[in-house]
Amino acid sequence: MHSLDGKVAIITGGNSGIGKATASLFAKEGAQVIITGRRQEVLDAAAEEIGHGAVGVCGDVAQYDFHQRLADKVRKMFGGVDVYMANAGIINLEGSAAVSVSDYDKHFAINTRGVFFGVQAISPLIRAGGNIIVTSSLAATKVLPQHTLYAGSKAAMAAFARNWAIEFKERKIRVNILSPGPTETEILGKLGVTDADRPGFEAHMANLIPAGRMGRPEELAEAALFLAAKGTFVNGVELIVDGGMSLT
Ligand code: NAD
Repeated sequence: MHSLDGKVAIITGGNSGIGKATASLFAKEGAQVIITGRRQEVLDAAAEEIGHGAVGVCGDVAQYDFHQRLADKVRKMFGGVDVYMANAGIINLEGSAAVSVSDYDKHFAINTRGVFFGVQAISPLIRAGGNIIVTSSLAATKVLPQHTLYAGSKAAMAAFARNWAIEFKERKIRVNILSPGPTETEILGKLGVTDADRPGFEAHMANLIPAGRMGRPEELAEAALFLAAKGTFVNGVELIVDGGMSLT
């Protein structure tokens, strides 16, 4: 008996990092996992690695129609959903003076609008007892250098999630926020941290984090599993998983 036996879980941005680690753990725990991402070949490779019949659906969360297409596909294939993890996100660090309108729109289109319309499209499929997890960030509540735009795009999620927890209460759907601190994922490369820079970057981060190191995607996956499966009386909370960085 596993904690997600017979459950259907969708994880956006499930082809790398925290999303992929969560998809792997959910699949091991018995869930039928559907992962999304932007590149079909990366999704296919991730689905194969995750195993347990994981399915990849390609599309851009910034596109309104993608969420409807995903909902239709999942309805036809699996009938309903038990866990929806809105996890896809981007980060581009720069001081506010350097932010262009296009940087601004991209962050809000993916990190904020993508989450909102994802929940709008998928929530009608979520069965009673199911739940939604939104991946936000420590940056939504802690001031970090050059994080202003990213922090703003993530901060809206806490308000969305608290309101959804009440909107969906009659349907017995819980809604929680998972906020990682610095975690070793592909997002670091996208931030411009090269392989050569990585040891120095990690040592710098280790000094800022009471745990003395960055988080691992598998540790975030364990926290997501708690919210998805074990935390049946946990609703409307922000679970910060940051090795204690919020305390510094
Ligand atoms: P990652 O880059 O490995 O994963 C991001 C995922 O989002 C990828 O699968 C990517 O394909 C997907 N994605 C990005 N833009 C998309 C789009 N337009 N449409 C569809 N999919 C898209 O990084 P990660 O660290 O695993 O990030 C997962 C989440 O965790 C993100 O929301 C990120 O903001 C958040 N987060 C990460 C950290 C960290 O230090 N790694 C810290 C705080 C929050």
